[in-house]
Amino acid sequence: MSRPYRVHVKSFGCQMNVYDSHRMADTLAPAGYAETPEAAGADLVILNTCHIREKAADKVYSEIGRVRVMKEEAAAQGRRMVIAVAGCVAQAEGEEIIRRAAAVDLVVGSQNYHRLPDLLARVQAGEQVVDTEFPVDDKFDALAAPRTDAIRERGISAFVTVQEGCDKFCTFCVVPYTRGAEVSRPVGKIVAEVEHLAEAGVREVTLIGQNVNAYHGQDADGRPATLGKLLRRLSDVPGIVRLRYMTSHPRDMADDLIAAHGDLPALMPYVHLPVQSGSDRVLAAMNRRHTRQEYLDVIARLRKSRIDLAFTSDFIVGFPDETEDDFRATLTLVEEVGFATAYSFIYSPRPGTPAAEMDGQVPPQEKSERLQRLQAVITRQWRAFNAQSIGRTIDVLLEKPGKLSGQLVGRTPYLQTVQMMAPRLLIGSVVPVMITEVGTNTLFGALAEQPIAPEFAAAGA
Ligand code: SAM
Ligand code: SF4
Repeated sequence: MSRPYRVHVKSFGCQMNVYDSHRMADTLAPAGYAETPEAAGADLVILNTCHIREKAADKVYSEIGRVRVMKEEAAAQGRRMVIAVAGCVAQAEGEEIIRRAAAVDLVVGSQNYHRLPDLLARVQAGEQVVDTEFPVDDKFDALAAPRTDAIRERGISAFVTVQEGCDKFCTFCVVPYTRGAEVSRPVGKIVAEVEHLAEAGVREVTLIGQNVNAYHGQDADGRPATLGKLLRRLSDVPGIVRLRYMTSHPRDMADDLIAAHGDLPALMPYVHLPVQSGSDRVLAAMNRRHTRQEYLDVIARLRKSRIDLAFTSDFIVGFPDETEDDFRATLTLVEEVGFATAYSFIYSPRPGTPAAEMDGQVPPQEKSERLQRLQAVITRQWRAFNAQSIGRTIDVLLEKPGKLSGQLVGRTPYLQTVQMMAPRLLIGSVVPVMITEVGTNTLFGALAEQPIAPEFAAAGA
């Protein structure tokens, strides 16, 4: 009997790429491809790439170099390994990838994954294929639904893309060019996917989109639904105990989404709300379309809706013409809000974006120095946020076995990892845990009471 083709999909960058990688594997399964965790020995290696910063794009070429060596080794053993580059680098660079790296057989843009079986058939017939068109057909309609066995392997927490692309055109960002215009999936399709995930044992769903709170998918009545409405629908799906969404834009934080935080216990009190800068001058140059005060007002409205909300954010330092005063405004904004954590990046000029052409590019050393100063403040806030957990009893969703025998690992509503001793059959349930200690990246605790066995059997438990 011939063995199945083995496909290895490696994701770079954001959660949307992780979701896309899963959908690619699900779409290839009926064509006889079985997923393998290792590139070596695979018949097909797909690199699902990220173009958001220069470093991310560079990583792809060094990874292609590594896989090329495996391809040569396979050829020496009389096996063929196909290398495919997918994702945002594929979309942005297209043919250029094959010019720079001849070992690549297929370049497939982020909107064309549903065509993979056909594209691979052309590769098998000896063609080198580049497909980066934005198609008229709907990728989501054509992609295979998640497979039950794969869902179980992937765990009790799942991502679901509900919106893709962006119409905001922040001057630093490649997303509107690599992912195209905003598209929202219809409510019914998302509900069906989440029901399917829940039946397979998923307990937590994170709705993802480049601009997720701009969601406006069609509802059963033919009218567009908001993200708040979608979350209300999903909170009724049996088995789903936790809902999250990311990434949001401050301008799209609508009243009904803010109200949903107060109304839906399943909606976790943890909001990722990128602000990028605390300076109005820089925000305007970035085309963020909101001021510092408007951002602070959104935070205040959210806190009013649910008192225990915590926030994370994204920051860019060293945007063109950012002065020391502008940067200090970012530091004071961080102090004013008090984040649970935040991601901070050095501005990276991206080809084709307006900011890359702006005067006043900040010298690399100054950017690094600002990044260090910002990260020092964020790290202090992150440590303080974790430290306040000690002595508290917090609901933890138990996800998987830990490294030690008898140990389980779970997450708090704020996505902090918690380790504790607990029976394996509790994987998939939410249990109260008394936090006793805070490590570098993990909280430690003990079950606060003997919990009731979960209503829904968890994946693999
Ligand atoms: N849609 C989200 C928003 O409105 O903030 C962000 C999506 S982007 C994929 C994730 C983060 O990457 C951004 O929030 C920004 O901080 C960072 N980023 C995007 N372009 C960048 C660039 N050219 N240089 C540095 N960081 C960048
Ligand atoms: Fe990029 Fe987000 Fe701005 Fe859209 S809103 S252009 S994804 S940073």
